[in-house]
Amino acid sequence: MNLILMGLPGAGKGTQAEKIIDKYGFPHISTGDMFRAAMAKGTAMGLKAKSFIDQGALVPDEITNGIVKERLAEKDTEVGFLLDGFPRTIEQAEALDGILAELGKKIDAVIDINVKEDVLVDRLAGRFICKTCGATYHKLFNPPKVEGTCDRCGGHEFFQREDDKPETVKNRLAINVKNSQPILAYYKAKDLLHEVDGDRDIQDVFVDVEKIIEA
Ligand code: ADP
Ligand code: AMP
Repeated sequence: MNLILMGLPGAGKGTQAEKIIDKYGFPHISTGDMFRAAMAKGTAMGLKAKSFIDQGALVPDEITNGIVKERLAEKDTEVGFLLDGFPRTIEQAEALDGILAELGKKIDAVIDINVKEDVLVDRLAGRFICKTCGATYHKLFNPPKVEGTCDRCGGHEFFQREDDKPETVKNRLAINVKNSQPILAYYKAKDLLHEVDGDRDIQDVFVDVEKIIEA
């Protein structure tokens, strides 16, 4: 099954992706995670991406489409994949169709997690991530069961994302609000779009996500 998870920054894509991977085993393809890994390694692509990410801007399509194309050609995507954070522009959605056609694959469902903007600001302000396994937490809404220990891998080191600072969040939200409507319309016209109310308990959101996957 080939899925796309959509939603504004903070909607809960990464959080739901963790649950989908743990249950269904699809590889998780997050362009944001790929950029952060490249930045941490200090590759040329990572350095280029950093200048956009630090401002809350989108990384140019030629870079982003290129990394997705390479990743989707890897063998582990044969069982399916979960795209998270891509496409973020209509040009990326069209490029994705071309990439998938070349690979003889297609999208089965697009799940859009809906959350109001004022809630998103609070979610991003309190987000922190396990350094070892990438599990996502929130200081108030979703803390680890044992303070300072990751529920998923037992790790003790966490970080906050540079681009979750309030100044950057404002720009990220504005850009994503502007770009997301045409992409949602694009997938609605293809009869692939499923809306989920993301302003509920993480587990309740996941129940709806599971229903869509299993249908
Ligand atoms: P995205 O990947 O869409 O940017 P995340 O999954 O990283 O969003 O979630 C953003 C923040 O909100 C994290 O701190 C996460 O723990 C928290 N969060 C995710 N889903 C929910 C939810 N349903 N209710 C409350 N907080 C949530
Ligand atoms: P995310 O982890 O999905 O919130 O992405 C973090 C940042 O990476 C975004 O704010 C963008 O700067 C960049 N990014 C991630 N995915 C894309 C994409 N599909 N197109 C352009 N930039 C992206």
